[in-house]
Amino acid sequence: MNKRWTIDKIREFVEKNSESKLLTTEYHGFSQKLLFKCACGNNFEKPFKKFKDNHQRKCEVCQPPKQSR
Ligand SMILES: [Zn+2]
Repeated sequence: MNKRWTIDKIREFVEKNSESKLLTTEYHGFSQKLLFKCACGNNFEKPFKKFKDNHQRKCEVCQPPKQSR
């Protein structure tokens, strides 16, 4: 069973596990793109699933997408 996430729990997770901040104020599901503010000041969008499971916790400038080989 998946843990049921709420926007408050997500915000807490984001603050504890990254240097980014959550800007989105409503959560509708795992595939929803959430808006984050990176420590560098850039905003970026990412589904919470990727943020959490793929450790994509910064903007694309600080953490460029991995290139497939
Ligand atoms: Zn950044």
